[in-house]
Amino acid sequence: MPPPNTLSALLQGLTLLAIVAFTESGCAPEAGPAPLAPGAVRAPQGAPPGTAKQRAVPASPSDANPPAAVGDSDGYHDAAAELDDDIASAPSEVGVEIEHPLAHMTTDELEKALVSDPDSLGSMSVGTPNAGRLFNGVKMPEGEHWRFASSDAVWGTEETVGFVTRCIEDVADRFPGTSPLPVGHISSRKGGPLSPHVSHQSGRDVDLGYYYTDNSPWYTRARDTNLDRPRTWQLIRCLVAETDVEMILIDVSLQRLLRKYAESIGENPSWLDSVFDGVPGRLLPLLRHAGGHATHLHVRFYNPIAQETARRVDPLLLRHGKVSPPMRTVSYRAKKGDTLGKLARRFHTTVPAIKHANGLRSSLIRANVTYRIPCPSQALAPSRPVRIPPRRLPPTD
Ligand SMILES: [Zn+2]
Repeated sequence: MPPPNTLSALLQGLTLLAIVAFTESGCAPEAGPAPLAPGAVRAPQGAPPGTAKQRAVPASPSDANPPAAVGDSDGYHDAAAELDDDIASAPSEVGVEIEHPLAHMTTDELEKALVSDPDSLGSMSVGTPNAGRLFNGVKMPEGEHWRFASSDAVWGTEETVGFVTRCIEDVADRFPGTSPLPVGHISSRKGGPLSPHVSHQSGRDVDLGYYYTDNSPWYTRARDTNLDRPRTWQLIRCLVAETDVEMILIDVSLQRLLRKYAESIGENPSWLDSVFDGVPGRLLPLLRHAGGHATHLHVRFYNPIAQETARRVDPLLLRHGKVSPPMRTVSYRAKKGDTLGKLARRFHTTVPAIKHANGLRSSLIRANVTYRIPCPSQALAPSRPVRIPPRRLPPTD
């Protein structure tokens, strides 16, 4: 874990070495990476945009072209909302050194451990949130202060599960009588594609409900009249200050309510600026708007340990058949004459995989409809150690 740092240390940290970018070369014809804001540095989670016709979905909220809604059974009645999870996965921060528990092990030693005692290596967040896998994930335990919107797909890395439970407990400790917080999807047991999401593949994404003043159920739209500001703000404050949070997707209307509340209780204004607005040209906001996130918030964590373990072990995991190759999703607008078989060949995937990703019962597809195509990702793990930004801590005095 990196030691906590103040905001000024964070700004000094900007001179440190950049996070190493993943490169992606498979799946579909693609254009080069999108230009970055001045001073920004490309980070490992960014799936590069492709051409206008075929790109990692979605490039922006307005570009999200939702497939048929799927997943009603686990409470996600608006699949389109989840597509937006993708938009903000390119933080501009630079990283700091981390102390890693397996740093002393050579590659040979890691390989021996992987074969003889894989559990000893701990959780691994493989690839990226949009094209990833989870190895040695842990299931979030039952708890008095949260309840699962669905009982499956609540697997994450040890870090992710630890971060989430810690902050929910923190709210419950500070506010007696708090109702259990709904917890939506994290990842599947082994990660990989999880309907209806684009992300949630590598054990680092978590959907959480809001705290409501009227005990509304999971997926109720939060608004002025029902948002429990003190509890929801405390949850966010804990995530920002006490975990390695990469971003939190929250509808902008709720951000306004929460910011006003935070100001009213005397939170430091410049710290709030850095959390809500970022530092222009240098730091992205931690709280970001994405359509569909008035019903739940989406938290993405950095996992300095699980990401670095995966980076070192990644080729061995594949060689020993411990994980399936990561898959990512592109959106494709069907043309006249396209068939599922043609698309499967073109995108190096399978007909059942496309059908599953789009909730198709038959093999018919229609021209001018946009489909989600899961296809193999050939993201290469960075050659240098994973670095994550220092935490943005509120001033202590
Ligand atoms: Zn989500």
